[in-house]
Amino acid sequence: MCIFCRIAAHELGARIVYEDDDVVAFHDVHPQAPTHMLVIPRKHVVSLNEATEADAALLGKVLLVASKVAQEQGLGGSGYRVVLNTGPNAGQSVFHVHAHVLGGRGMGWPPG
Ligand code: 5GP
Ligand code: ZN
Repeated sequence: MCIFCRIAAHELGARIVYEDDDVVAFHDVHPQAPTHMLVIPRKHVVSLNEATEADAALLGKVLLVASKVAQEQGLGGSGYRVVLNTGPNAGQSVFHVHAHVLGGRGMGWPPG
């Protein structure tokens, strides 16, 4: 079973910072910034490529929860980056759609 589905089901441990009926947010196990969280829908959607019109509200909620947890972690003023890696060129490694929320340091643009 998908590791993010297992985290959402509490079958696999994670430092969960927010959860409700639709969405779960937790700290990334290999943080790439002082604060690095992931926000996922409980629904198993493989990537943005597989999202449909029926997922519009759910994806909107993922973004609102990204904002909420970022601000709760004190990133509202300094800023943060929200990233959804999709497919090989973006380096997607877990095939359950997730938004990275990264903050606590300055970041370059364009990303590597
Ligand atoms: P992707 O490369 O697909 O955009 O991001 C997957 C992210 O999931 C990576 O940043 C990786 O560190 C994180 N990750 C992979 N396995 C686990 C896990 O078991 N627990 C947690 N908390 N994060 C994980
Ligand atoms: Zn899944």
